[in-house]
Amino acid sequence: MFAKDFSHLYSDECNRRVKDKLSNLFLLSQGENVSFLGNGLPQSKYFPWQSVSGTSPIPPFPNGIASNDETKETTSYEIMKNDLKNSSIGASGENSFNLARGLQYQAIEGQPAILNFIKEHLKLIHKVGTHYQDWDVILSLGNCQAFDSILRTFCNTGDYILAEEYSFSATINAAKAQGLKPVSLKMDNHGIIPEYLEELMEAWPKDLKKPKLLYTIPTGQNPQSSSLSSERKQQIYNILQKHDILIVEDEPYYFLQTGEYIPKSEREEIKFNNQQEFIDNLATSFLSIDTDGRVMRMESYSKVLAPGVRLGFIAGSAAIMKKLAAYHLMSIMAPSSFSQIFLNELLQTWKQSGYIDWLIGLRHEYTLKRDGTLDYLLENMPKEFIDNDVVRINPPVAGMFFTIDINASKHKNYNGDKIAMEEYINNKFIEAGVIVAPGSWFEVGSPDEISAIKKIDDDGYIFYRATFAASDLPQIQEGIAKIIKVLKAEF
Ligand code: PMP
Ligand code: PLP
Repeated sequence: MFAKDFSHLYSDECNRRVKDKLSNLFLLSQGENVSFLGNGLPQSKYFPWQSVSGTSPIPPFPNGIASNDETKETTSYEIMKNDLKNSSIGASGENSFNLARGLQYQAIEGQPAILNFIKEHLKLIHKVGTHYQDWDVILSLGNCQAFDSILRTFCNTGDYILAEEYSFSATINAAKAQGLKPVSLKMDNHGIIPEYLEELMEAWPKDLKKPKLLYTIPTGQNPQSSSLSSERKQQIYNILQKHDILIVEDEPYYFLQTGEYIPKSEREEIKFNNQQEFIDNLATSFLSIDTDGRVMRMESYSKVLAPGVRLGFIAGSAAIMKKLAAYHLMSIMAPSSFSQIFLNELLQTWKQSGYIDWLIGLRHEYTLKRDGTLDYLLENMPKEFIDNDVVRINPPVAGMFFTIDINASKHKNYNGDKIAMEEYINNKFIEAGVIVAPGSWFEVGSPDEISAIKKIDDDGYIFYRATFAASDLPQIQEGIAKIIKVLKAEF
């Protein structure tokens, strides 16, 4: 089976893109007796790097993945300018590249060795290829850049896109700056409410173009920290399929699935007996249920390895990946070779199972942080705040964030202006020495013509997004103590 054709959804910009004739010259450079005077490739003898080297921990990380662990076993690799390394660790044979090759202009899609690794990984985790066989992967510079490429490939100025009611501001701002009109979808503790989406699409005015795509953060949503169940994903998928709308899943937090929060007194340590148990425990992705090739999955190494690596990938229908590559050929070209070289060495050293070991270790770390944070928050938040609907806490099952929802109307000075109340309390937090992110900063909003047909009811709460990612537990607890002190003084 093959992916459906979505070419009718391409943007005008995408349709205007032509393949640069110069890029085809590379294809002719391979044969014998070819005098290649085609492209402006600087000779590698002018590259001012003789070698680069790195050291990384090796699986199965018996002492955990935290890098300040002095007892951890490591492996080192050195990549030379001209020699192809022949070693039992790291990238060797066809998976290796020396600097002369690696630092030259690269394949737009990314190094084949990395792409092959990612494809194997996607088969393992998402059973990709089960529903349609013509799927592919292209490297990105992380999910922000990936989304920018996708928007430019599908959207024209004035197009609608669907998004969660509150969403990641950088990506939503990118869409707005491109002249697109994001439309908010109502959420609850478990993410987008499918019934709301269905009613919205059924009521969509006939004289307006349908939205091109849904942008969703299904796991550990930023900022609401909700996660969509597989049932909801299937419902959402079916609705969007009916209305010919694409799905972009932005999944930087997919591997930070910490599971249900279980109060300290009842908690038992969850240990996976083997890697398959860990894999079976992961959320069902939109990509894995996609029968049409309408899903583009964006994954990033930012939260899994390091943000500065600026590497991620997009997976989906091969035809769509080709269009994205055509855009990259005229924009980013390809991610930095240095990033690709170091990612490749790491992945080839770890292999699929070592990478899964790392992800299991990562999950463990974030679970400890989530649990420690929520334990402290729930133990110290005055019970009457919860009982009297002043404060709402929704323990996350994934991601880096938790929210503190506050019923604005319970404040003695509340005059109906929620934003003013949000700012007032936020200033109190800052005065107390704790930094969180006010929820309204993430509000997507909807164009008037859409709000007119379907409004999102206001439940009267304001919220603040806080993270347990950026500090160790004692500092997180200190911050929470300051938040609670402010709330006690104000409510
Ligand atoms: N601008 C000009 C004038 C060029 O000749 C080239 C490379 N041939 C580029 C841009 C692309 O360069 P870069 O590798 O910096 O993206
Ligand atoms: N998408 C979401 C939902 C995020 O929360 C973030 C980072 O905070 C990003 C994208 C940016 O990720 P990247 O570093 O991969 O561009």
